Amino acid sequence: MGIVVQKFGGTSVGSLERIENAAKRVLDTLKRGNRAIVVSSAMAGDTDGLIELAKRISEFPNEREMDMLLATGEQKAISLFAMTLRKLGCPAVSLCGWQVPIVTDDVHTKARIMKIGTQRLRNLLEEGYVPVVAGFQGVTDDWEITTLGRGGSDTTAVALAAAMGADCEIYTDVTGVFTADPRVVPNARKLEKISYEEMLELASLGAKVMQIRSVEFAAKYKVRIHVRSSFEEEEGTWIVPEDEIMEKVAVRGITVDTKESRITVVRVPDQPGIAAKLFKALGEAHIVVDMIVQNISHEGYTDMSFTVSKNDAQKAEEIVNKVAREIGAKEVVRDDRVAKVSIVGLGMRSSYGTAAKMFEVLSNNGINIMAISTSEIKISCLIDEKYAELAVRALHEAFIEDGEEIKVENES
Ligand code: ASP
Ligand code: MG
Repeated sequence: MGIVVQKFGGTSVGSLERIENAAKRVLDTLKRGNRAIVVSSAMAGDTDGLIELAKRISEFPNEREMDMLLATGEQKAISLFAMTLRKLGCPAVSLCGWQVPIVTDDVHTKARIMKIGTQRLRNLLEEGYVPVVAGFQGVTDDWEITTLGRGGSDTTAVALAAAMGADCEIYTDVTGVFTADPRVVPNARKLEKISYEEMLELASLGAKVMQIRSVEFAAKYKVRIHVRSSFEEEEGTWIVPEDEIMEKVAVRGITVDTKESRITVVRVPDQPGIAAKLFKALGEAHIVVDMIVQNISHEGYTDMSFTVSKNDAQKAEEIVNKVAREIGAKEVVRDDRVAKVSIVGLGMRSSYGTAAKMFEVLSNNGINIMAISTSEIKISCLIDEKYAELAVRALHEAFIEDGEEIKVENES
């Protein structure tokens, strides 16, 4: 008999009716002869509401107390879920993280799972109960309650599936992972399968389907994940190891991210050590730098641009202003109205012409490229934010709708 971990996101448990609907999905799994372990998020809006309360007390609430507070969202949801299952005639027991136990390190508000005890879960399954586990929370070796970062219930589910040797279903409010955001691209298609690596790139580029850490976890332990809608029956998207993907297309998906800002240091002396000085200062302030461009120098001076998360932009600008004065740069310019469009696909590794085609599509639409970055399976271009949707639509049409295949050489 197989075990399935079924995780329900905030919208899927957003009301008592929805919890009942979710509970019926669990009964379906049992009827098919499987055992089920439920992982639940807090009801939609509850986590945000709790954060808002805390922020009314202090801008930076104590992180231990924050975890104590946020863990209540999931505790509320699992008790209601278990009651609902019981009402439907299915024995169920809700469990907080510490009762499983899901043991984490002690980094409050972004803890990492260190180990999971499986005995209690196995006993419950043996006795015919459905364990309903709180997502997002754990406990340290010193009995402190921790949480795993926003969206952390995904990671709870994948980690439990890994520990129990189970498959993992992620129930959400979309029917799967799409070639692009369907709200922007009406022709976007649902993917049947996607590899961990592609999913990781898409997730870190702004496709908000799953918490990034949960996909990393799944890749490490080879947990197969089925992302699907809790409101519709249809099959969703399977996130699987690369060797299960037959068709390695050059472009699997297209994303756009408007959460970065560009900072340009104008007229920097072109000398060794300047970049080091600049980025060291940012690194010391724990600011992650993404795309970096340095122009060709003219008469001993050059411009240098890079992007950071919008959340860090203010702080980054202050730091760079200080360094700019020290190194004798002319000025620092910040632009918040930029967007990063990216194409992602495993087949890019062994195809040619993909970058050229991307640049051509953008230029045909009159879109200027401010910066470019690439990985083995991704190409990103920084553009003016006002062209973000146009760019995604045009790239989707060129790479995904018009079948004119980019040549993929056989990997040997
Ligand atoms: N309730 C938490 C959040 O809103 C965890 C989760 O839903 O995955 O981020
Ligand atoms: Mg989520």
